[in-house]
Amino acid sequence: MAMNVHPTERYQAPVDPDYCVNCGSRPAVRISFQQAVGMIVFSQRQTVDLVLCRACGQATGRKMTSRTLLTGWWGLVAVLWNLVGLVRNARSLRRLGRLAEPDRAGWEPPSNPGRPVFERWTTIAFVLGVVVLTLALAL
Ligand SMILES: [Zn+2]
Repeated sequence: MAMNVHPTERYQAPVDPDYCVNCGSRPAVRISFQQAVGMIVFSQRQTVDLVLCRACGQATGRKMTSRTLLTGWWGLVAVLWNLVGLVRNARSLRRLGRLAEPDRAGWEPPSNPGRPVFERWTTIAFVLGVVVLTLALAL
């Protein structure tokens, strides 16, 4: 008999924790992002903690950061948490930016990372909002 490997061992998938859970590409890192939606008194927070490649990570992080910039401030408790979340998101995005391009060896192409946070209309709307609010308070 040529089979000297136990059948249950032969079909075991390789344990590989550093591929992107979204597309299967490598390299990937474990990364977390936060999103906040303020609702006057309460706020809704969402945290994502996944192993993602650069493209998928940037797609997720940029989307969540943009949403937070737009919706995170509409609550009394939310503001402080929001600042912390945005700093963490920025740190995660910077970490992803240092990662090499995904190798596209996964089961589907990596996500489209989209525009950087500072080139999105939500960021422009946020900056305009701050300017208008500052002017309104100053007058
Ligand atoms: Zn990916």
